Amino acid sequence: MDSFGGVRHLLLSYVLMNAVLSTTQTKEEVILDMKAAGGELGWLTWRMDQADKSGWEVVQRTLNGSQFYTYSVCNVGEREQDNWLRTTFIQRRPAASRVFVEIQFIVRDCNSFGGASLTCKETFNLYTCESDADVGTTFRKGQFRKVATIAPDEITNRNDLRINTETRVVESLSRKGFYLAFQDIGACVAILSVRVYYKTCAATVKSLASFPETVAGGENQALREVSGACVDNAGSEDLPRIYCTVDGEWVVPVGQCQCNPGYEEVEEACQECRPGFFKATASGDKCAPCPANTHAPSSGASSCTCASGFFRAPNDPPTGPCSGLPSAPKDLVATTTQHSAGRLVLSWSPPEDTGGRTDITYSVECQRCEGTVCQACGEKIRYEPGNAGLSDTRVTVSDLDSHLNYTFTVEARSGVSALAGQATPRSNRPPSAATLTTSLHYTDPPKITSVRLVERTPNSLSLSWDVSPQPRAQSRPVRYQLNYRKKDENVAMTTYVVHVLEKNFVQIGDLSPGTAYLFKVQAFGGDGSPGGSSVEEQFETLPEGLTPNNNAVIFGAAVGGAAMLFIVIAVLFLCRRKRNSHARQGPEDTYFSSSEQLKPLKTYVDPHTYEDPNIAVLKFATEIHPSHITKQKVIGAGEFGEVYRGILKAPGRKEVAVAIKTLKPGYTEKQRQDFLGEASIMGQFAHQNIIRLEGVVTKFKHAMIVTEYMENGALDRYLRDHDGEFSSFQLVGMLRGIAAGMKYLSEMSYVHRDLAARNILVNTTLECKVSDFGLSRVLEDDPEGTYTTSGGKIPIRWTAPEAIAYRKFTSASDVWSFGIVIWEVMAFGERPYWDMSNHEVMKAINEAFRLPAPMDCPSAVYQLMLQCWLQDRSKRPRFGDIVSLIDKLLRSPDSLKAIADFDPRVSIRLPSTSGSDGSPFRSVSEWLESIKMSQYSENFTCAGVVTMDQVLQMKNEDIKNIGVRLPGHLKRIAYSILGLKDQTSTLSVFAV
Ligand code: AMP
Repeated sequence: MDSFGGVRHLLLSYVLMNAVLSTTQTKEEVILDMKAAGGELGWLTWRMDQADKSGWEVVQRTLNGSQFYTYSVCNVGEREQDNWLRTTFIQRRPAASRVFVEIQFIVRDCNSFGGASLTCKETFNLYTCESDADVGTTFRKGQFRKVATIAPDEITNRNDLRINTETRVVESLSRKGFYLAFQDIGACVAILSVRVYYKTCAATVKSLASFPETVAGGENQALREVSGACVDNAGSEDLPRIYCTVDGEWVVPVGQCQCNPGYEEVEEACQECRPGFFKATASGDKCAPCPANTHAPSSGASSCTCASGFFRAPNDPPTGPCSGLPSAPKDLVATTTQHSAGRLVLSWSPPEDTGGRTDITYSVECQRCEGTVCQACGEKIRYEPGNAGLSDTRVTVSDLDSHLNYTFTVEARSGVSALAGQATPRSNRPPSAATLTTSLHYTDPPKITSVRLVERTPNSLSLSWDVSPQPRAQSRPVRYQLNYRKKDENVAMTTYVVHVLEKNFVQIGDLSPGTAYLFKVQAFGGDGSPGGSSVEEQFETLPEGLTPNNNAVIFGAAVGGAAMLFIVIAVLFLCRRKRNSHARQGPEDTYFSSSEQLKPLKTYVDPHTYEDPNIAVLKFATEIHPSHITKQKVIGAGEFGEVYRGILKAPGRKEVAVAIKTLKPGYTEKQRQDFLGEASIMGQFAHQNIIRLEGVVTKFKHAMIVTEYMENGALDRYLRDHDGEFSSFQLVGMLRGIAAGMKYLSEMSYVHRDLAARNILVNTTLECKVSDFGLSRVLEDDPEGTYTTSGGKIPIRWTAPEAIAYRKFTSASDVWSFGIVIWEVMAFGERPYWDMSNHEVMKAINEAFRLPAPMDCPSAVYQLMLQCWLQDRSKRPRFGDIVSLIDKLLRSPDSLKAIADFDPRVSIRLPSTSGSDGSPFRSVSEWLESIKMSQYSENFTCAGVVTMDQVLQMKNEDIKNIGVRLPGHLKRIAYSILGLKDQTSTLSVFAV
């Protein structure tokens, strides 16, 4: 029976359109496609009551000359229909344990059948049955398990064709193949298309490793680990790996392949270095241009060779530049002195072109010539400090003959000179030597020409003298030596030697009054050679009692004044130094040098205050040797790499179970610091309800953070998996732990900023501990983090309004988040504000709406939540108050008995109190579908609850009686009914 004849042309145009659309899927492997089959499908139809009457029927249609088939059934006038349509055997690819079934269908509106509408249905059921072999036409209803009730979003009226597309997942497939079956229980349905597919992660190349196409995992293997191979011309120490998610997406690539020497990465491939470029090692670096004086004429170079005339010394790095020979030393001169017979000093300046090197040394060769005959000076002369390997630009040559001409050659040499010698004949080499021909001649040393008295007192004499020749400004300074003695003494007096550099003046004090003294001055040349002495001159001090002339008094006063001034300045300077040394000790020094250092740390120290974050880690965390850590199993994927469960066995300590966070290879220094930052923070805390840091591995290539292991993982997931299994008392007990941990953090002035059930970990004794202490505290790694207009990333649903609006994060904003955590815990991990968008949540909070009390939530606990969500943050309770309140509740469990009222007027809209377009639900199955409880469709039908009016009459007991046993499901259904009773709650207003 085909009840859709009147609208057949619409159906045909739909099929034509969809044929084009279905080619766009890329990561879906189709294993059954009803439409693509094109011919008779041979699906089995079976009717429960009267085998001779037809149930599902195949209907052939023609479009543009090609045929396609649909299956229809429409026994709406008849009671108790049970019509089955079974596919042919669908072979399963071994890894595909999770397949998607996409059904396109039409359902006729029951109202359009007049009287028949009483028994008429608007849904049908999808079943599956696994098998290792094709069982042919054998059909046993009992072997099929139900997958879902399929309800249309849109119902077809007589002239208005509405096509529905629904996709369902069939999980945990393990046998060679399976059948799908469609059960009709009295609807008017046409199935237009059934497409069965599984998802794959498409073959890909990531981090220079190629990974094969992989079937996405199923429920019990959410992440499938896949090994890859490095692309051509790349290699890796560890086998590269990646994970394929259930949704067919690749995540967390581990192990970095790197391009071989001579190759660089270009768009996920390794390409040869261009000519003129090179890469020496396997690394992520780009090819670099050849360094100075080198070249690489062909592509793929792992090193560059020296250009002609340039060399690398044995100790030069093979990746460095090549260098040429140095040019000749400059300004070679010889100096002789009268008093150093047979000796001259050769000096020169470094060469203009060092060939790009710093290891320049000099060697000196000597030739002596008599007339035109020249020969090597040989052993006859001496060099000081030597004649080879000189680093100074000066050498003294002695034992020379004064009547000969000498030719000195000074050669500049460098680390490559020897190589150049082997490579090129001397005649072709650039001139590295300077030559000078000289004979011995003497320059006059300075001589004292006259000594005179400038000033005298009873105790002092001031003298000055002249020197010839006058020392030139640029020549080395002349020194003078002054000898004097008392004239009348027979024995020579102690000689005072006065060195006055470039000064021909002296004042001698402490002399006896009225006494004659004899003075002699000798000059010394700049090279230390002694010059001529003055004759001995006699000068006499003034007799006792005689004052010097006025000038002398003024001179003396000036000297005295200057001395006083000097003393004053010196005293001031010393005082200041002393004060400065106090000031420099500063608060830091006082802190570290006093006994304060030994006291326990009371305030959290932001690791950012350390200039070098690596020092912060060392200060707050214990370094663990990697050999003491054993990784056992991947338990999660953090932002920086995999998280493992494992064992820590430190010497002299018992084995402990630990969680090991790893830093994936290829990290940047910034990522490493951020990663270890969490340890610097965690290491400052020591509290029963804060996740404990065991230590860090920082001194080895693979950095790790090791913490205590929390067997039950994240709190939100744990509660969702154990929905309804705990009493209010137990839930409040968990909250007590979280509050105590937060109290400790707030006392240390640490603001968490991302307090949420997903960041609380649970151990086997149901103890809850606060975790997730990212350094950047901008929640980069939190999937709930959303960018705000002020630039930061904020988990909107958990964050206080002032923190969202102007980033005012305080312990009071943590208290708001704690209120949300209370709600999450009491609602067994339900998502706060359900499916509302972040924007809707912010708007609702600003309009003073608040989350309603979760089902069965003690009134006192809900009151606490509302207190945490007070707009005025100064009025919110502090964590200390919260711990006290919770303790009080736990001490008198009766206080938890009063259950918070469900009052639709106080709350944000409830989940699914109406259809997605806001109109009331049209059928019980549509409603159940919307609250994801379709599996109970049959329970409702069997109990005769088939209209929404009947649903609204149900009490909690009724729901239990029709077979809804799981507490979480019971709550969800009852909760939704409460919401339905007051449809106005979607628009209700409440000011806290
Ligand atoms: P995280 O990078 O801290 O978000 O960690 C990623 C996941 O690893 C978490 O969601 C937990 O499931 C798991 N995990 C992290 N630390 C621990 C721990 N100490 N004990 C048990 N599981 C953990």
